[in-house]
Amino acid sequence: MKILVINCGSSSLKYQVLDMTNEMLLAKGLVERIGIEGSILTHEKIGMDKYKVEESMSNHKDAISHVLKALTDKEHGVISSMDEIGAVGHRVVHAGEKYASSVLITDDVINALTECIDLAPLHNPPNLLGIAACQELMPNTPMVGVFDTAFHQTMSPEAYIYAIPYEFYEKYKIRRYGFHGTSHKYVAERTADILGVNIEDLKLITCHLGNGASVTAIKRGKSIDTSMGFTPLEGLVMGTRSGDIDPAIVSYIREKENLPYGEATNILNKKSGVLGISGVSSDFRDLEEAIAQGNERAALALKVFAHKVKFYIGAYIAEMNGVDAIVFTAGVGENAINMRDVICSELGNLGIKIDLVKNKVRGKETIISRDDSKVKILLIPTNEELMIARDTYNIVKAM
Ligand code: ADP
Repeated sequence: MKILVINCGSSSLKYQVLDMTNEMLLAKGLVERIGIEGSILTHEKIGMDKYKVEESMSNHKDAISHVLKALTDKEHGVISSMDEIGAVGHRVVHAGEKYASSVLITDDVINALTECIDLAPLHNPPNLLGIAACQELMPNTPMVGVFDTAFHQTMSPEAYIYAIPYEFYEKYKIRRYGFHGTSHKYVAERTADILGVNIEDLKLITCHLGNGASVTAIKRGKSIDTSMGFTPLEGLVMGTRSGDIDPAIVSYIREKENLPYGEATNILNKKSGVLGISGVSSDFRDLEEAIAQGNERAALALKVFAHKVKFYIGAYIAEMNGVDAIVFTAGVGENAINMRDVICSELGNLGIKIDLVKNKVRGKETIISRDDSKVKILLIPTNEELMIARDTYNIVKAM
């Protein structure tokens, strides 16, 4: 069965087609500037050069019909007709407390996700637009929703309840949800495979360090705690997000800087993190270059970032009463050799010893701990699309 995976943002859309008989990626692509002048679709049939379509795409339905055209194109396509797509898997950011796993999309599911718009006002609306557009263009194809929050629904109340008046949880569902669940789950399952150990017997700490970043404690295959919270703003220092700060800072800077409504939160989301500290960039490659030229604030930004990752690793070791493996993934986790080294150094008393030679690797599944390290350290490139395709395939196969 061939599965189309769709990940819709407000003005962009990423897609992949996978053949689930052997989990082979057949084609992938990206539509940018949906609803904005200069819409562009970049399509790639695996093994062939990229192919670009520059035509007006005024909404998500337009964009998806261009994707379907590219997928059935004589030269660049990978299917002869849309009937070859057995199901569509949609990435959806927020499913609130409603879903702890992926589900077949029905009217009830759409209603539940619509109710979650308040919780993810930037993400759920475009995700829903993508689902509606696909349903219109492929009315007979089953659709599955795969949620960023679902994997973390196994957290216990002591991990997800904030110490604020309980009525805010009851009235507004203010609690910790966690995100990046699909990625944390994928690398946890790969870790068990690579180590040849049943996931039920493992305590893992998975570090998804990308532009957005989160750490998760996974015990017996289940998320028991994660660093992102009610929104993706909580937790680690990120590219442009502050992560944990004293909440009193929000009203303090609002007053001092005389900021309009919402601007303080905007600053914490878009102008903080390693960008905010360094004043240089949110991209670790730029920061490494700046450090090489002697920029001290860029160096400080990376030190603060590493400090926070280490802080969470320590916390999660305590929460799980130990750890068997620490896993690095996503843009920074997969590529920033020095950052992995700094995070894992001086943890020898906890049985965590990184191998500086094995660690000199980017984007390739590798065990990077020393042979005498009690705790394994792994680099595993994430593959959220494959995880979405797997869930979609399993749900549709069982129908
Ligand atoms: P997201 O999906 O959250 O946008 P990614 O997981 O793709 O982010 O990570 C992107 C980030 O990864 C970049 O902003 C950059 O900081 C970091 N990154 C990518 N390649 C490298 C590299 N070679 N060295 C260091 N950092 C890198």
